[in-house]
Amino acid sequence: MRWKNDEMTGWGRAIRASSDIARPERAADLTGAPQGPAIGNRRSYGDAALNDNGRLYDMSRMDRFLSFDADTGLLTAEGGVTIGAMLRVFAPKGWMPPVMPGTGFATLGGAIAMDVHGKNHHHAGSFGQHLTDITLVASRGGSRPATEGYGRPRWVVWVKPGSSFRRPCN
Ligand SMILES: Cc1cc2nc3c(=O)[nH]c(=O)nc-3n(C[C@H](O)[C@H](O)[C@H](O)COP(=O)(O)OP(=O)(O)OC[C@H]3O[C@@H](n4cnc5c(N)ncnc54)[C@H](O)[C@@H]3O)c2cc1C
Repeated sequence: MRWKNDEMTGWGRAIRASSDIARPERAADLTGAPQGPAIGNRRSYGDAALNDNGRLYDMSRMDRFLSFDADTGLLTAEGGVTIGAMLRVFAPKGWMPPVMPGTGFATLGGAIAMDVHGKNHHHAGSFGQHLTDITLVASRGGSRPATEGYGRPRWVVWVKPGSSFRRPCN
């Protein structure tokens, strides 16, 4: 993995930060890597995606769809997948995320970390309410489900446009 120093801002452009940035291509690249926060497409307005004088992992290259169940709409994907890419691939097949922020450039990882909301917040809730599992990659190697021991997985990641949203069962 190569490191490149760059200066960047959050989406609000109020705060500048200089960081060493790596763009891992697969989870294995992170094994033994130095600690540092993961970032998506820096669409957060403030400093959430910044780490001045530190390291950052730009996750935009880990943007693979891993599986999709056309019966339930359950999607498994890497954190760098954007909301826009999900729509481009799955909307023509009749599926879309139940909650979407106002930018298609937000990544799945960013949407989960910030628990984003959409215009349907009052009845669909926030993004995290439609997740069944999250797997975290550890720099010391391996990965683990962040939802282990959380109880019954919540239903459902995707819903069909035009149908009423399925409510998560808690
Ligand atoms: C035009 C516009 C409209 C918006 N509309 C809305 C809206 O309607 N509703 C709403 O809720 N938000 C909205 N936002 C905010 C935006 O959706 C969120 O800030 C979102 O988190 C940005 O995603 P990102 O991938 O750019 O994440 P970043 O800004 O890069 O990072 C955000 C946070 O997520 C963490 N993170 C990112 N990727 C990963 C990963 N793979 N693993 C672990 N942690 C990770 C970062 O460490 C950071 O803390 C909008 C932003 C813009 C620019």
